[in-house]
Order: sequence, then C-alpha cells, then structure tokens
Amino acid sequence: MTPDNIFSRQRLARAIAFSTCAGMTLWLSGVAVAQDGFHYSAPAVAPESGSGYEEKPGWTTSTFAVAAANPLATDAGYQVLKAGGSAIDAAIAVQMVLTLVEPQSSGIGGGAFLMLFDGDQVHAYDGREKAPMGAGEDLFLDQEGNPLDFTAAVESGRAVGVPGTIKMLEAAHQAYGKLAWKDLFEPAITLATEGFPVSPRLYQSLVSTPSLAEDAIARHYYFDDAGNPLAAGTVLKNPALAEILTRISEEGSAAFYQGDIAEDLVARVQGHESPGSMTLDDLSSYEAVERDALCTPWREYKVCGFPPPSSGHLTMMQTLGIMAALPEVEVPVHDGVPTVDWLHPFLEASRLAFADRGRYIGDPDFVEAPGGDWNTMLAPDYLASRAALVSEQSMGSGGAKPGNPGEVQTAWASQPNQPEHGTSHISIIDADGQAIAMTTTIEQAFGSRIMANGGSELAGGYLLNNEMTDFSFTAQDEQGNPIANRVEPGKRPRSSMSPTLVFDNASGDLVASLGSPGGAAIIHYTGEAMDAMLHWGLSPQEALNLPHAVTLGDKVYLEEGRFPQSTINDLEGLGHDVETQELVSGLQALRVTEEGIQGGADPRREGIVMGD
Ligand code: GLU
Repeated sequence: MTPDNIFSRQRLARAIAFSTCAGMTLWLSGVAVAQDGFHYSAPAVAPESGSGYEEKPGWTTSTFAVAAANPLATDAGYQVLKAGGSAIDAAIAVQMVLTLVEPQSSGIGGGAFLMLFDGDQVHAYDGREKAPMGAGEDLFLDQEGNPLDFTAAVESGRAVGVPGTIKMLEAAHQAYGKLAWKDLFEPAITLATEGFPVSPRLYQSLVSTPSLAEDAIARHYYFDDAGNPLAAGTVLKNPALAEILTRISEEGSAAFYQGDIAEDLVARVQGHESPGSMTLDDLSSYEAVERDALCTPWREYKVCGFPPPSSGHLTMMQTLGIMAALPEVEVPVHDGVPTVDWLHPFLEASRLAFADRGRYIGDPDFVEAPGGDWNTMLAPDYLASRAALVSEQSMGSGGAKPGNPGEVQTAWASQPNQPEHGTSHISIIDADGQAIAMTTTIEQAFGSRIMANGGSELAGGYLLNNEMTDFSFTAQDEQGNPIANRVEPGKRPRSSMSPTLVFDNASGDLVASLGSPGGAAIIHYTGEAMDAMLHWGLSPQEALNLPHAVTLGDKVYLEEGRFPQSTINDLEGLGHDVETQELVSGLQALRVTEEGIQGGADPRREGIVMGD
C-alpha cells in the first residue's frame, strides 16, 4: 500500500468519526505529522442545529484514543497522539481548545483533577482552586449573617478561587510529557486566531445565561450589537486568549500566575461590584499537589479515583460497594432502561453515601479523615453495615443518616446540599499504554460570569471560575458544630468530580477511563456507567446512553422522558418521592478490550471519540 493510500484511509476513518458526531460536521484538512515536530492543522467545521439528545455510534480504535466534550478539542488531542505525544500531552492540547470552544464548562480560569497512569503507577494531580488567604467563614454571608442568594454569590468576585489547571498540567507535563509544552498550545492558538464556529451547545448556554452580558468583556465578545447571543455557526476569534496562551506556551505557568496577566485577573476580581479578596500573592503562591490516589477493590477490579478534596471517588465507591454487599440484581437493565430491581438499591446506597459525604468530606489539608484514613469509609465491614440498612421499602427523604466509619476529633455537622453545574471530562489512552482521566471545571456555566483578558485591548479572553460556591455557605449548624467543608483561607472546596481509572485486580492491566460533569450527580452518572460497563457487560456507548436516576438523600430525580410510567409508579410504591427533570451528564468513557479500545461519548452533549 502506498503512503497516499494510508493517508486517505486515515482521512476516511476520521471523516466517519466526525460525520456522526452530534450537531457538528467536520471536513478534515490533513493529518498532523511532520518530521520537525508537531504541527497542527485546523479542520473545517460546520455546525448544524443542536439537539438535547443525539445518538452516538460508539467507537473502536486499535492503539490510542481520546474522548472529549467537543469535536475540535478531541481532534486536537488526536493530532497530538498521532504525532507521538503522550496522554498528558494530548490532555493539555484538549484543555486549551476547550477553554476556547467550550468556555461555559472549563478553562485556564478554573481547576481540575487529573488521574494519570504512567504504565506502572497511578498518580493523582490536584489542580483544585484554592480560597484566597483573605476569604473566611463569612464569605457568603450577608450583614445579618444569613447565606447570600446562590446566584448572587456565583456572579461575584468573591466566588472566584485561585485557578489551578495550568499549574497542574505543567507539573504533570514535566513528569510525563513527550512533546514540547509550547507545541501543545498550537491548536488552541490557531483556532483562537483563525476562528472557530460557535457550537450549538455554546449557543444554548449563552441563551440560558443572559447575565453573562453584564460583564463588559463578555458582552462585547459573546453577544451582538443588539445584545443577542452569537448564533451557532458564527465564526468567532479570540485574539486576547491567543495572546495569553502564546505567553503561557513560551514562558510556562509563571506567565499566568505572575506579572500583567495575573494583575489583570486580580483587578477583575477585586474590581467587581461584589469584590473578592484575591491578591497577587494568592496567585503566585498557588501550587498543584500530587496526592495519593484512592484505589479500591470492587468486584474483579481495582478502581482508582481522586481522594478529598473530591468526594467523588469515596461517595461513588461507597454507593457501588454497598450495592456489591447486597444480593445480586438478576436483571439490572431491560430495553436500555435500568430496572427497579437495580434502581432501588442504587438510590438507597446513594442516600447513605451522600449522608456520609455531607458529614465527613472536606479538604484533607484542613479536615482529618475518619479514623485517620479515608479508606475507613470504604472498608468492607463498614459498607456491609451500611448495606444492612437497605430494605425493601425506601428509607425515604431525609431517612439516611451518616454512619461512623472511624473516630473523628471534631463533631462535624452535616452540610446542606447546594447546586453545582458545568464542567467537562477528558479520557485518553496513548499508544504506550499511559492513560488519563481528567475532570475540569469552572463550576457553573461560564463560572462567575467574569471574563479576564490579560489587560489586552483585543476582543475575548477567558472566564473566571466560581468554585468558591462549592464551599458550604454556612460554617456551622444550629448547635455550633462546624461543617467540614466550610470556607477557610487557603482551603480547597469539596468537589464531586470523579475522574476514574479502572484496572483488572489480578493482572493490574488498565481496563477503563471514565468520568462526567454534572455537579453532585457526577457521582451517580459515573457510578451507573461503571456498573453498566464493567458489571452488566454493556459497551461504553450503551452504558452512557442509559437514563439517569439521582438522589442526594431526599427526592429522587429521574431523567425526564426516559423512564416508563411503571418505573415511576413502582419507585413511589417503595417510598421514593420521585420527580422527573433533565439530567445532563457529559460522560466520556474508554474501555480496553481484546478487540481494541472501545469508546463512548454522552448523547446529551457534543463529545466524540477519535483514535487509530
Ligand atoms: N464544581 C463542581 C465540582 O467540583 C462540578 C460542577 C459540575 O460538574 O456541574 O464538584
């Protein structure tokens, strides 16, 4: 076969991947391999109308794969992998493109958790935002000491945490990068300079976030002269972001955390009408942390996830661990819909797990683990004692109480539930067998709705997170007991993000990488997908297509229009208080099989999988 034939086969494979992706068609303009290093070639993109749920084909590749929430971001990762880059190299290119094309969900103004398998060991990189040193327990309280209105708190300088994504990626790249740091910014800089089409989902997010137009930089950039959001398909350039990314690509993270870009960020936060306290010192002293991954035996697997400050792994593995201690569900799924036989124990286990989460989990630099070790919360005996609380009737709203997994010095109060939204998930497996699962966020859609631009005169910029609203607004309960996840200076807010790498317990071989956005429901989405994929035997795509069920301990939310009325009736008969609503996960999953790497992308969003 001539090289030309190989080339056209590659083009065909990629074109197939693109023509089937949600609401977007891409025509490919070339493959990014060159003798003298990495060169990006921007594909042509033509968005079509968006829809809430679009079937995805599922994908199978033979040696490497990347799954991300936007086709341009996936393609950037693909081109990096194709040019011989490692999983972390590809993740950096993907994240920079997401900053540009999916600005509602993640970016350089936010934070992330990265699980990285280096072929031998699992590393957990913590790029979670930190509270400024000037932030205290009263951050979200009014003059009378009452919690602020949630949206007012979100849209404020005080909601902005010190961003961690760039520092985290730099640390991981220094350890596991193969291509030059600078080259990994080329896709995002090219697209920011030459323009990219507004995707249907970005357009929908703009329509549902009119308050973004109150920020002058964002109004000028995302809205037309009449104040309408830019329509899907509008070609948008972001020269201010291109400048900032060029500086970071040449000077490293210091360009972001010190100097004029940092000064502009601080000015945006402090100059807001509801100002935050962030200083240049807060920025320049930020460090990403490498933590010990939590690796938990589950059925024939070892599931590795992020420790606190994320509650994701602990709460998901408590849920699945409690289910594993209950009698086996014979028929968990029927016609692509989870059965009541599976839903009831899943929801009861979730209630118990969320009760523990509300009591115990916070930033481990401030909050001691029960019994001195977070694994106490996953100990088989403890989970068996929790499983013994599950019966045929639901414990109902508020019925689940926290357990006692291990001794604690502080009598913690339980944190009331608060809303969380936004976020993006990336899964990558490279040709050398390294893998990442990275969940990345600016919290709500468009974060704090404050845009920073490095002080540039040019249009565009990047959005600042509102991650501080992931802290409990109140610091204590009515008896004066402290809440583990209360605001403290320099603390990281508790997260729900659940980037997950799964291994075969016997061989240690990598089995899967997955995760999702979705606020606290990330835990349900990821847990359901993992159970479906690895215990029921569904393909990644089939697992991601499943309708969702969520409870944080009170009401049960079922995904609107996806369950038969009989399921609702049966759950109500068991004592669940059921409501239906949209449940917009954004799962991405890769699974290593004998046939190759199978990939799935959430039909509720615009993600796709690519690979060779
Ligand atoms: N900020 C949330 C967290 O870290 C994630 C937000 C979301 O996915 O909706 O848990």
